[in-house]
Amino acid sequence: IERLFPRRVIVTGAMSGIGRATAQMVLDTGGRVLGVDLDDSAWSAPGFTARTADITDPASVAHVFDDAAEILGGAPDAVIHCAGIYRFKSLLDLPLDEWERIMRVNGTGSFVVAQAAARAMEAGAIVLLTSIAYASGDEEEPGAAYAASKGAVVSLTRQLAVELGARGIRVNAVAPGVIDTPMTTITQNEASTAAMLAALPARRLGTADDVAAACLFLAGEGAGYITGAVLPVDGGYLAS
Ligand code: NAD
Repeated sequence: IERLFPRRVIVTGAMSGIGRATAQMVLDTGGRVLGVDLDDSAWSAPGFTARTADITDPASVAHVFDDAAEILGGAPDAVIHCAGIYRFKSLLDLPLDEWERIMRVNGTGSFVVAQAAARAMEAGAIVLLTSIAYASGDEEEPGAAYAASKGAVVSLTRQLAVELGARGIRVNAVAPGVIDTPMTTITQNEASTAAMLAALPARRLGTADDVAAACLFLAGEGAGYITGAVLPVDGGYLAS
């Protein structure tokens, strides 16, 4: 049963929301975590080492990943990449520099982290975070750049699953729906949240733990025959 959980894990975005919940869940199941974020001061715990890096900067990511084996007591068996940003603006108001910033953090950042992961790992799993936005538009919170950046994550996941399969590295993505974290904005509007929940099969917001549980499953050997998959954790959003 222990093989169901990853033991030596790098988690990006580990200071907040889904990344923090994922890191905590790895610790709770007896694993060790190297957490990566822009700032490393939000929390600490036994078995958890935090390092700062900007995921868009390959040198800073490589610097942290180079120390992973020493910090974790062996090569990482999973890298769970939760760092990302969310912004929305209607197409006609979306400046090029904002488009590029979102594509850079979410799209290029996923490439940078996956490349560093593939270099640091002997075998195991990479889990990337996409969003329901890769598959579904949003009129109230129009996010062309965010949606496109998360579409890039899905394509990257499928390509890397094929490319890294022979090395024993599985690559999957989790597509969260509306999750109650510091990133989420719909919760600031009660009426919008109520309307969304009334139409959602699960009838509730998702929690960071809902997503963390899916990340841990895909990162562990229980998902040993799953690669190139995109797993919605969305309370049924994409099905309805
Ligand atoms: P969050 O804002 O709570 O946490 C994101 C973390 O990433 C922060 O700690 C932030 O400092 C870090 N980060 C941002 N840019 C970084 C960079 N350049 N380098 C290093 N770290 C950086 O967000 P969350 O809700 O936990 O989201 C995690 C992931 O899940 C994101 O990829 C997000 O797009 C995705 N997602 C979230 C939701 C949701 O409803 N919250 C829905 C779909 C997808």
